[in-house]
Amino acid sequence: MDHQAVRPAIVVHGGAGGSRSEEDGCVSAARLGMDAMPQGALAAATAAVAALEDDGRYNAGSGSVLCLDGRTIEMDAAVMDSKGMLGAVACIQRVKNPVLVARAVAATPHWLLAGEGAERFARIAGFVPHYHASERAKKKHAELVKRLGGTSPATPGVANAAFSQYWNYALPQAFATDDGCDTVGAVARDAEGNFAAACSTGGSAPSLLGRVGDTPIIGSGFYAGPEGAVAVTGIGEHIVRRLLAHTVYQWLASGMPMDEALAHGLALFPQEIDIGIIAVSRSESGARSNRDMPRAEVSP
Ligand code: ASP
Repeated sequence: MDHQAVRPAIVVHGGAGGSRSEEDGCVSAARLGMDAMPQGALAAATAAVAALEDDGRYNAGSGSVLCLDGRTIEMDAAVMDSKGMLGAVACIQRVKNPVLVARAVAATPHWLLAGEGAERFARIAGFVPHYHASERAKKKHAELVKRLGGTSPATPGVANAAFSQYWNYALPQAFATDDGCDTVGAVARDAEGNFAAACSTGGSAPSLLGRVGDTPIIGSGFYAGPEGAVAVTGIGEHIVRRLLAHTVYQWLASGMPMDEALAHGLALFPQEIDIGIIAVSRSESGARSNRDMPRAEVSP
């Protein structure tokens, strides 16, 4: 194709569990991503997600939720582009911008680093220790503690008692965490026709220690290839079973219109499961959710 004719585009989201009243942060992040577009789609998507991590209102980076022990913060993030760059971190603690660590992992012989090894890698790569439990995270944690004590499930289809039964934190059980599916993500198409996806989360709550959702899993939370890029948000345990990002990517690659591909993606899930999808293809871009997902799209 004539690469000169490609119109750059970026789409970002602030999570299926977020609110459109928080969309201004998505707009700013998308603009920052567009500023980085001259360095390519990967730089654009990564810059947008780093801005969302720093915003503090979304469940990623500085806004990450607290784990059930009320103290631990475990984060996942990933980046991928259509030129073969792929990097991810899972259950990483004490870093400010997991998406930047994921970007650094993409330069190593591996694609995914987890837990302590990921944190040690971050230090070697120059990321300083950072721990931030936001006021928002503390409030949501307190709300979750209450809900876990109630009879209606804090996670659709999962008995609250399961979190006591399998409690695996070092601290004694004190039911704490936050509920939330307000992970962040960005997809970008640059002027050369390259595509990239980036995403980052503080996880889905309530969850056991060491839980990894869809966000750092290729084909589930994100995918980028020669025909486009897709990033998704929602309850990871449901998303991974449908390989949602790759499934939507394949529909787009086969020529399905954007609106239809996004609608089909949402239709794979029962209504009680929060889901959001953003995507760019060669000629279109879009965002769709079965919730009030904050989002923004920018193209010059
Ligand atoms: N997908 C994320 C997870 O399950 C949560 C989210 O999208 O907010 O970890």
